Amino acid sequence: MKLHEYQAKELFAKYAIPIQKGVVIDRPEQVDGLALKYPLVLKAQVLVGGRGKAGGIKLAATAAEARRHAATILGMEIKGEKVRRLLVAEAAELGAEYYVAFTVDRAARRMAVITSAAGGIDIEEVARTTPDQIVRSTADPFLGVQSYHTRQLGRRIGLSGSLLSDYVGITTALYRLCVAEDAELAEINPLAVVAGRLLAVDAKVIIDDNAVYRHPSLPKNEELTELEAAARAEGLSYVELEGDLAIIGNGAGLVMSTLDMVAYFGGRPANFLDVGGGATTENMKQAIEIVVRKPGVRGLFINIFGGITRCDDIARGIVDARPPVGMVVRLTGTNEEEGRRILQAAGVHAYVDPEEAAQRAVTLTAGAGRQ
Ligand code: GDP
Ligand code: MN
Repeated sequence: MKLHEYQAKELFAKYAIPIQKGVVIDRPEQVDGLALKYPLVLKAQVLVGGRGKAGGIKLAATAAEARRHAATILGMEIKGEKVRRLLVAEAAELGAEYYVAFTVDRAARRMAVITSAAGGIDIEEVARTTPDQIVRSTADPFLGVQSYHTRQLGRRIGLSGSLLSDYVGITTALYRLCVAEDAELAEINPLAVVAGRLLAVDAKVIIDDNAVYRHPSLPKNEELTELEAAARAEGLSYVELEGDLAIIGNGAGLVMSTLDMVAYFGGRPANFLDVGGGATTENMKQAIEIVVRKPGVRGLFINIFGGITRCDDIARGIVDARPPVGMVVRLTGTNEEEGRRILQAAGVHAYVDPEEAAQRAVTLTAGAGRQ
């Protein structure tokens, strides 16, 4: 679960990591009368990165400017996410910008620490073009992060004196936060020099989804798209991808192998939906309506292996839904004959061989794309 910057900074404050004084607002008029000193920085609170580049972060020297920027940013959409909240903070005069993050290194079965003197900008870009500017290490889970360790990391990115002491304090606190809050990522970029001290100007924290239940006081953020929310409301599990072929199956394993088959034959799944075991006619109808609503969908592939799920129920759902795109159905298992008869009466052919069906679905979708 991703936290918004302001939520991550509330955690930072709890662990004594220094942050700017700020307030969260959701209407531009609220800029007036904030007990904050100008210049201010106005920051879009969305769960995607690169807000600065997208125009979601602006400095304001006067109240009029702040109001104007607030109105602009609160009306923006950044990478598909509407900006509903704005963090307004006292702008800092930034000196050198550093980078530090803890993340899970699954191969090492430890937390990894990544740090660099080249903070502020796109760290992936730094890693690609000048990898020697990135320092990496891992934390021993039994010893935790010791000050000799963080001191060494700080020296390797060129820090000394009181900045090095700040760095040791901040990285140690950030590690404590990760462990105590079950974070799988805690990142400060930039960790900037402001008036001779290190300050966490930005904050990114992702809590391990499997541990969210252990932290009832954390906010509950939802990152679902409209269709994902609709699917969840129906009790269906639905995931969005980038392609043009919608996929429905029953059971996670069957759905995964369907995606593999489609990819193998050169198709690109737009999304996939698992109707699960024992799907009813109504579930199936809803499932079809959800997957085809995604913009850019040009074909539909339904792959059902009836067990608890009955093929006749599935077939009725398919016939009721009448999808607006070309469709290929593979149907086999419980009550197959009945299901096949229902589909045939509606002019729908049902395949038995999943590979043959996958191949047909891919060709059909590719053909629809050329029209
Ligand atoms: P991101 O683009 O989503 O990573 O958002 P950041 O919070 O990292 O801000 C992006 C950039 O905006 C920073 O790298 C800074 O250059 C600038 N910025 C953010 N806060 C301040 C501030 O308080 N003062 C100044 N001068 N610049 C800021
Ligand atoms: Mn940043």
